[in-house]
Amino acid sequence: MMTVAAQSATQRLRITLRGAVQGVGFRPFVYRLATEMSLTGWVLNSSAGLVVEVEGRTDQLSLFEQRLEQQRPKASVVTVREFAWLAAEGSTRFEILASDHDSGKTVNVLPDLATCTDCREELFDPENRRFEYPFTNCTNCGPRYTIVVDIPYDRPNTTMRDFVLCPRCREEYENPANRRFHAQPNACPVCGPKLNGTIDDAVEALRQGEIVAVKGIGGFQLLADARNPDAVARLRQRKHREEKPFALMMPSFEVARTYCEISPAEVEMLESQAAPIVLLQPKLGTDIAANVAHCSPYLGVMLPYSPLHHLLMEECRFPLIATSGNRSDEPIAIANEEATVRLKDIADHFLMHNRPIVRACDDSVVRLTRGRAGILRRARGYAPLGIRVAQELPPVLAVGGHLKNTVAIAVGQDVFLSQHIGDLETLEARGAFERAIDDLCRLYSFRPEAVVCDLHPDYASTHWAEKSGLPLIRVQHHQAHVASCAAENNVEGGYLGISWDGTGYGLDGAIWGGEFFLVEGDHYERIAHLRSFGLPGGDAAVREGWRSAASLLFEVFGSEQVAPDNGAQAQRKPRLDEAKVRYMLERGINVVPTTSVGRMFDAVACITGVARQNRFEGQAAMLLENEIGALRTEEAYALPGGDWEPLISAVVADKIAGVPVPRIAAKFHNALVQWILEVAAGAKLKQVVLSGGVFQNRYLTERAAGMLESRGFEVYTHQLVPPNDGGIALGQAVMSKR
Ligand code: ZN
Ligand code: ZN
Ligand code: FE
Repeated sequence: MMTVAAQSATQRLRITLRGAVQGVGFRPFVYRLATEMSLTGWVLNSSAGLVVEVEGRTDQLSLFEQRLEQQRPKASVVTVREFAWLAAEGSTRFEILASDHDSGKTVNVLPDLATCTDCREELFDPENRRFEYPFTNCTNCGPRYTIVVDIPYDRPNTTMRDFVLCPRCREEYENPANRRFHAQPNACPVCGPKLNGTIDDAVEALRQGEIVAVKGIGGFQLLADARNPDAVARLRQRKHREEKPFALMMPSFEVARTYCEISPAEVEMLESQAAPIVLLQPKLGTDIAANVAHCSPYLGVMLPYSPLHHLLMEECRFPLIATSGNRSDEPIAIANEEATVRLKDIADHFLMHNRPIVRACDDSVVRLTRGRAGILRRARGYAPLGIRVAQELPPVLAVGGHLKNTVAIAVGQDVFLSQHIGDLETLEARGAFERAIDDLCRLYSFRPEAVVCDLHPDYASTHWAEKSGLPLIRVQHHQAHVASCAAENNVEGGYLGISWDGTGYGLDGAIWGGEFFLVEGDHYERIAHLRSFGLPGGDAAVREGWRSAASLLFEVFGSEQVAPDNGAQAQRKPRLDEAKVRYMLERGINVVPTTSVGRMFDAVACITGVARQNRFEGQAAMLLENEIGALRTEEAYALPGGDWEPLISAVVADKIAGVPVPRIAAKFHNALVQWILEVAAGAKLKQVVLSGGVFQNRYLTERAAGMLESRGFEVYTHQLVPPNDGGIALGQAVMSKR
């Protein structure tokens, strides 16, 4: 650690730790450790970090420092450690000092943590004073980010400030030896928050097939019996959510295991303190209603993560749909009055309480890819943890993309990402976007010097940035994708960045989405891309995937072509919209050029009859991937230099010849991987970065990564931020340094 004087000399050591160190029981841990080792001094939560001064024999201080690192609370994340030797002061005891409020705010706010084992045991112990108390927590668990109004993280700065601790709770709160020492949301049935309604009534309503709105950790959730197809259908209809899969909450791991295949790595994800929704492979023939996940290959599953959820699930013992309390495309409701208005046409029954939620935070979504947890939606349990990047960044605000929006601020080497905000389609979503910006800036006393936005002139985030009055930095969408992946992986030196997604505004004004960049420092050279084709109707083609099919078929076969969804010579009269699109293609009216791999997925999904349209983003591609199933083949279509012509001809020929769709789907995916290998071989760089929504495709990502690795490439994929547009803000933030 450092050079030291004689081992027996008495010295004083100051240790400053930064990162997620508040609200995880760090101070009581330090107190116990120091007292046990008979060291004196103090520990203090400051807004610049956790500061410890310990005094004692030098060798003891070194040992203290080691144990501090080895035994620190498991929810803590230490990103910066600073040490300084001071002269001994002759202190006689160890104490916990009150938080100081001065210095700059650089401490991480902690995410919300799932109920710990100790608290769960108390919850079901009839002898315990917190028996069946839905708001129990301790320094190792409970709400954080969703209740903190300001930092440092202390009770008066949380929504618990109006609940006055009863004598017994106060004693726990003040006793350094107690698990609840300075647990800011500490509460009990005497002094803490209360339910508005009963768990029994809510469970009875669920049994009757009703839809129940429950106030959770990051906002309201809508619950329904996942075994009841009528209840699920009603929820879909009322929520205006056609086919997007619903997530489930399972009563326990044991029950989850009867519904899904769960690997040890997935168990770890399910039971982690973030307690996210984990995408799992469902078992066949269970009683989960078919309309829960429709044709998705996955079932999104989470375990109870708050005492309220534990009590609910203990009572009902069957899988529940647990989905955000909102209408599709709107932010999640957090306040009681707001929820009763906004959810009144959706929910039959409400279960609320009087602990206010400061900010909405959806459930996060993760999936195992390449043997590791990869975050697909980053919200509760992860937000607002910082991503540590290799370089010091200027203080910028990055406003993200348009779909699956998140925003970020750069503070030194940390980029703090907001929780998932959603698509900025509605007025409500744009309100949430603005609140998230205010919120991040306020929490970190952050004043941006510039704002970074997407190059797209029509994104709501771009409009906001233009009106902000701050200097503007515009960053190309697909460059931001690869930059985000390189940043979270701390990639050093040049790399080949592969950026594939549905849409993004290109440097030439076209819709990009099948791009290869050679990246050296801040220089991005676009060395390859998918051969361009026309998107009839532009944005309309995003939802109506058959338009991409019509366009590619028109290019390959000309006017006398084929119906987009049967791949054979047109045996039926084209539908009116098809005739219209054909007219557009023939005359080149309202046809926007694109190089999007995502749109090519739509086309192939349509030609093979898998999907004509996307009822949610990426649906057709997901269904096409799902077709492959367990099939493994090395066959691939030709896609020379990204030219789709031979590929589309071959797909149509296979379809006409009756080749099974799974084989066509595999050959299509393999063609894409083959093309990646081709470009990588020519690029002469050993590092390859894969980013963009297309790489949510597990088959594609794992095959591409595996084959690149076997050829000696170092492959980087996303884990901490999503490959989709939820990761754009991180890329924008790091690209502000030019
Ligand atoms: Zn606990
Ligand atoms: Zn109490
Ligand atoms: Fe994108």
